[in-house]
Amino acid sequence: MSIYDDDVFRMACDQFQVIADYLSINKNDRERLMYPKRAIAVTLPVHMDDGSTRTFQGYRVQHHLTLGPTKGGTRFAPSLSMGETAALAMWMSWKCALSNLPYGGAKGGVTVDPAKLSRTELERVSRRYMQEMIPFVGPHTDIMGPDMGTNEQVMAWFMDTYSVHQGYSVSEIVTGKPVAIGGTEGRREATGRGVVYLVERAMNMLKMDPEKCTAIVQGFGNVGSVAALSLAYKSGVKVIGISDAHAAIYNPKGIDIQAAEQHVFKKGTLRAFAQDNHVDPNELLTMPCDILVPAAVDRVINGKNAGQLKCRILAEAANGPTTPEADLILEKRWDEIFVIPDILCNAGGVIVSYFEWVQGLQSYLWTEMEVTDKLFRILEHSFAQVIKRAKAHKISHRTAAMAIGVERVLKAKKMRGLFP
Ligand code: NAD
Repeated sequence: MSIYDDDVFRMACDQFQVIADYLSINKNDRERLMYPKRAIAVTLPVHMDDGSTRTFQGYRVQHHLTLGPTKGGTRFAPSLSMGETAALAMWMSWKCALSNLPYGGAKGGVTVDPAKLSRTELERVSRRYMQEMIPFVGPHTDIMGPDMGTNEQVMAWFMDTYSVHQGYSVSEIVTGKPVAIGGTEGRREATGRGVVYLVERAMNMLKMDPEKCTAIVQGFGNVGSVAALSLAYKSGVKVIGISDAHAAIYNPKGIDIQAAEQHVFKKGTLRAFAQDNHVDPNELLTMPCDILVPAAVDRVINGKNAGQLKCRILAEAANGPTTPEADLILEKRWDEIFVIPDILCNAGGVIVSYFEWVQGLQSYLWTEMEVTDKLFRILEHSFAQVIKRAKAHKISHRTAAMAIGVERVLKAKKMRGLFP
């Protein structure tokens, strides 16, 4: 389907075909499972601060409607395309199904560099995007959340715009909102916390002592910074490498992650942090460490560098960080590198978003302890299922995780039948 023509969409389809082969899914069911149910493209004319009007492109893709409403994040990024949005929506479908959440996958966003917008421009882009999406989303249709380039404030503007249109507050239209307007305790930390919970499970399985382990984290936004803080101060792992879009820092003696976080809070980037320890960002991923956490963009582990990774655990916090070519290499290195695949590793975000949605629908608030406890139970169950399946069938962790997700969606489609 040409509207999705894009490298990231092709990658998501290639990954799906591997699973469909493994599950012996027939051609008719493959196409029905793979292609998104709905794709919406909108044009956003926005007043800029200098008096001009700029026109932005926005997207929303709803991958399947079989298990409930669709659910997925909103990405503001300069390279965002319909194809990338569709790939991310497809991954959300398998991720939600793996965690047994009553959702189909979705994703959306705007082709824009949010760092180049003033706060007032960002607000106008955010509100206009939600305004254009109102006919296609709803608390029982499609629920948005944050992703790269968006945050709690953007979710608050989305919620306000939708609510003003309805005439009453509809907090359950988005997740990842500030707690002050109906967000849940523990959502901001959920993805990074979930990543570290699974890293600890893997360390335990592999009999690795966290106090003797080192970690490198690529990306220092919501997911990467929480993962690095949690690794350093909760698990006792020495974090020796961090990076963002502007700088990469490596220090074998360990990095002061709290100082890095405060620096980014004040300055917005790692650019001027620990300048004596800056390294080439392209080399950071292949430096020796026990735990490697890509927590930024897709396709950073590819056919060129997968053979050079020197980690024991690869915890895929980002969506789609590993290409299918890299997977073939990592499958041969299965006894050297323990992969926690993205749809398992970063599922904490959507799991706690689900909790936020449920609390919103019931107008009933949970404590942070309740949220985190329920999050870890779901992750524990998924982790155990993936490991069991991979061992029993001698398949990679990614194949096992995706197969569980795809099978659940296929089973639900078969049970519901095809109308008319
Ligand atoms: P974010 O916008 O908060 O942070 C992204 C970080 O990555 C920033 O530090 C940015 O500077 C950095 N970055 C961008 N390009 C980079 C590059 N080429 N090299 C190194 N660093 C780079 O985004 P986030 O919410 O932390 O999301 C990060 C990843 O995690 C994305 O792949 C996203 O889809 C995925 N994810 C996020 C959530 C969530 O709850 N936020 C949930 C699941 C998955």
